Order: sequence, then C-alpha cells, then structure tokens
Amino acid sequence: MNQILIAEDESLIASFIAKGLRANGFLPTITSDTEEILNLAISDNFDLLILDLELPSKDGLEVLEEIRGQGVNLAVIILTARNDINDKVAGLEGGADDYMTKPFRFEELLARIKLRLRNNQATQVQEETVLTVGNVLLDLKTRKAKVKGDLIDLPVREFTLAETLFRHPEQVMSREQLLDRVWGYDYDPGSNIVDVYIGYLRKKLGSELIETVRGMGYRLRK
Ligand code: CA
Repeated sequence: MNQILIAEDESLIASFIAKGLRANGFLPTITSDTEEILNLAISDNFDLLILDLELPSKDGLEVLEEIRGQGVNLAVIILTARNDINDKVAGLEGGADDYMTKPFRFEELLARIKLRLRNNQATQVQEETVLTVGNVLLDLKTRKAKVKGDLIDLPVREFTLAETLFRHPEQVMSREQLLDRVWGYDYDPGSNIVDVYIGYLRKKLGSELIETVRGMGYRLRK
C-alpha cells in the first residue's frame, strides 16, 4: 500500500486530501512541521510527498531543496495557492515532479499521484544503478557523478539530462526529446535551455563526451 506524506498546514485541505486518499487505498500522513517533513521524507517509508509552499515555519521550496540535497528520490507534487510562473519554474527546477495550484479538484490530484507512482515503479524495475561511459560514472541511487573518481556536483536537471544521455549512448537525442524527458513540462520549444545545460555538462564531465549532431541534436560518445 502506498504511503503518502501530506505537508499542509490548512487542516481542512489536509483532511480533505487524506480522506480522498484513504478512500482510494492509500495511507496518508499529515504534517506541517518542516523538521518532521524532512525526517519523514528521508525515512524511506513514503512513496510520494504532497508539498504546500506556504508552511508556517519555512518556505516549501526550501524544504524541497533540503530533501533533494539529502539525495532523497521521493516523488514530490507541489500543491499551492501560488500560481506565479516563477514559483512553478523554481519548484520544478528544484526537483519537484509536478506542480498543482489551489483551488484544485481531488480527481486531478489523484490522477497525478497515480501517474507519478507508476513512473517511479517503472524506474525501480531497472536493476542498473550505476551507468558508466569512459571515465564518467553516474550513480543513480545517490544521484552523484564521478569523473576519474572525483565527485562532481550536478544539480537535479543536469543529473537527469546526463542520465538520459547515458541511457542512450551512441544514439542521437533531439532537443525536443531531451526537453520532454528532462524538463517534462511545457517549455518554449524555441528555448535554448537544452544547449545551455549541455554546455554545463561538457564543462563538468568533459568536452569530448557529448557530440553535437548538426540539425539533429546530441549524441553521447562511448
Ligand atoms: Ca499553507
């Protein structure tokens, strides 16, 4: 049975979500204490976190940063009254898997939760936890990279981009494919964000690793 952590200080909303989840066979836990959210997120007992951004003692985005900073891979859906695009981008860049604004319909939240849990299970089935190409190693469990044995700091999106390329060595991946897999939400198709992030990876992992295939995209060299 899937355990869901609800980080929410508005008790009516929290109990509304919890009730709906219980009716659908989930085990919800409610808390708005940011220390407790962090401890429970790290505990490995939960499958998904529903995260409010306006928590009493700390901003939800900071809590998310701490969770991801601990290498916790828990699925996170931000549920907030903030509908500013900057908050949305910050949340997703900060490692949230999805972002929903209040007011919301429970059916939609439920659909998104199920989708996230399905995606996570699909990832867990793959046994490989370390991907290596040349002298670059990606540890998918700890979300850390190593070049010639030296630890390299890769933020969430850079790591996910590297992982996507490492899973398809010698294959040309188009910008659209990379945008879709790494950012996974509406992004201006004219955006050069993929090129910018490829540049970051080349700097950190080695300039020869990723080849530009003119007019097509990028290819990871074995
Ligand atoms: Ca709140």
